[in-house]
Amino acid sequence: MKSRYHIAVGAIISALMYLYNYSYTWIFLFFVSTIFIDLDHLIDFYLETGRLTLNVTELSETLASRRYSLIPLHSIEVVVFIMLISYFYLPLFAVSAGFIIHIYFDSRYNNNTTNNWLLLSFKIKNWKTDWNGCNNPD
Ligand SMILES: [Zn+2]
Repeated sequence: MKSRYHIAVGAIISALMYLYNYSYTWIFLFFVSTIFIDLDHLIDFYLETGRLTLNVTELSETLASRRYSLIPLHSIEVVVFIMLISYFYLPLFAVSAGFIIHIYFDSRYNNNTTNNWLLLSFKIKNWKTDWNGCNNPD
């Protein structure tokens, strides 16, 4: 899903939260987390190319061209971890909710990120790929 749609969805849900009297802290954290979860793409791009960019087209094309990518914020493990530590600071629950909304729309509209919902799955797939490559006698 493109960034502008993430912003629109985050804004709409944040407006609904405002109507239902959520605190400004919760609304801010939710809105920001629906957008800035994509910062992990910068790290993934850096690991792939060895340089940094803020060019969204370049980031998208690089992500789409790769079979696997490492985008840890787009994983269920991280969301569950944030939910667990929200026990100590409750507004972090808004961050996990923002991540869930973002991941949901990514999985619905982006084919290339659905493979990476689980960090564990990423590791296993890469391990299988490496294993198959090593066993090829040709
Ligand atoms: Zn995303």
